[in-house]
Amino acid sequence: MNTEPRPARASLDVVLPAYNEAASLPQLLPMLAQMLEPLSARWRLIIVDDGSADATPAVVQQAITAGVPIRYLRLSRNFGKEAALTAGLAVADADRVLLMDADGQHAPELIAQMDAAWQRGADTVCAVRASRDEEGALKRLGTSLFYRIVNASSQLQIPPDAGDFRLLDRRVVAALNALPERNRFMKGLYAWVGFRTEFLPYTPRARTAGSSSFSMRRLIRLALTGVTAFSNLPLRIWSGLGALVALCGLGYGAWIVVEHLIFGDQIPGWATMVVGLMFFGGIQMLSIGIIGEYVGRIFDEVKQRPVYVVAHDTGEPR
Ligand code: UDP
Ligand code: MG
Repeated sequence: MNTEPRPARASLDVVLPAYNEAASLPQLLPMLAQMLEPLSARWRLIIVDDGSADATPAVVQQAITAGVPIRYLRLSRNFGKEAALTAGLAVADADRVLLMDADGQHAPELIAQMDAAWQRGADTVCAVRASRDEEGALKRLGTSLFYRIVNASSQLQIPPDAGDFRLLDRRVVAALNALPERNRFMKGLYAWVGFRTEFLPYTPRARTAGSSSFSMRRLIRLALTGVTAFSNLPLRIWSGLGALVALCGLGYGAWIVVEHLIFGDQIPGWATMVVGLMFFGGIQMLSIGIIGEYVGRIFDEVKQRPVYVVAHDTGEPR
């Protein structure tokens, strides 16, 4: 197997997006430090504070004072997890970079296994959740529908239960950093950049404290970003449907002509007309809406605004 040789004293960066995680971080950070110490003599944490409104900055400052090697980036407001990850990856420069949630759901125990896979030559080591049993039926249904749509029309296959708990080789990080798009659906981007990926099953834990920031609304928004960024299927459906409807119209038109020739003039048909009008009015609005979703995202890209704004950066630790 042809793999990149791993450097002897490889450095390790851990990117932690944190949005109101003051209650979770004090437990997570010492545990993390303990896990990372044997893996690399040159490790550091990159905590990206995604505009937290709680005591997250103070908690991080305490950890820095206590000697934990942390680069602390504070975004100027809440930009969302994808933006926070993007910000973390932009400053990460280690030989391998670990992405994990700051809420304790991603078990630090798995890191050693992930690192072993990287040492063996994997470029991306991705933790895959073994079950979604703790999620509601509606969320599970939505998730499976989402992955079916995205994976149906693109050559790219995004694995359904693979999240943001990943170890990335520096080459993968460089590839991700080179992607210019603003609509960042990270799970899709990891798949897009490719490289040798290994999957490790894990069972996510309960949050140490607080609750998930992803409401149904936010999840739907993220799903829309994912679908529009990685699939043209929604657009294609309307072309297909349009062709089908046109064909039906042609058939029905032919029938009306024949009917006229056989039975002479027939006045009734008012109901057919109204139903047809309303049905096709609805379909047209829906298809315009879907085109609008794509156009809106094109607009986002064209504006060329940065994905996030950094308000504060402690710079390199030590
Ligand atoms: N997060 C973030 N910005 C946000 C929402 C979440 O940086 O706007 C972080 C959050 O602090 C956590 C991770 O992303 O470290 C996952 O978020 P959460 O636990 O709320 O989501 P879930 O576990 O339900 O996917
Ligand atoms: Mg979580």
